[in-house]
Amino acid sequence: MRIGVLALQGAVTEHIVSIEKTGAEGLAIKRVEQLEEVEGLIIPGGESTTIGKLMRKYGFIEAIRDFSNQGKPIFGTCAGMIVLAKQIAGGETGHLELMDITVARNAFGRQRESFECDLDVKGIEEPIRAVFIRAPLINEVGSEVEVLSVYKDEIVTARQGNLLVSSFHPELTDDFRLHQYFTDMVEASGTTA
Ligand code: GLN
Repeated sequence: MRIGVLALQGAVTEHIVSIEKTGAEGLAIKRVEQLEEVEGLIIPGGESTTIGKLMRKYGFIEAIRDFSNQGKPIFGTCAGMIVLAKQIAGGETGHLELMDITVARNAFGRQRESFECDLDVKGIEEPIRAVFIRAPLINEVGSEVEVLSVYKDEIVTARQGNLLVSSFHPELTDDFRLHQYFTDMVEASGTTA
């Protein structure tokens, strides 16, 4: 199984390392044509405005929407979650607008710019280690969205069909179980070659 990591900006290498721990192959995606070589895609953390701009510039908006419409799984972490959201609180224009969630950027405030915690995630047995960096959170979810984890009453992991998002950075720890959860989604999607 081969999983792509969108490599326009942000934490790319760390995701590839985590993907490879699950036994799948990781591929940095720099051109839209490369999407044909992968069965699932990770959109990493970084800066969502920058990632959105580069996606527009290189034709990734339509290409990733097509990829998703084919039922292929996509996992957005932190800024990657923001670019997948249908709505961004505060009126900022969305990017891919694929997932029925409203996200708030930099939602944990200045005092808590970054922090770590152990988080219970539905479908994963023991808590996972989560690293939050200027993290967004999910304010609202549509009826098709399943909430997978909550931190202090705020939604920080969710899934809608082939789409998975987390507010935090699962690639910054040795714990690759959320990546395993994603590769299981890819396996189950039946789109693998
Ligand atoms: N604060 C960033 C944004 O709004 C996301 C931070 C991250 O990906 N670590 O795009």
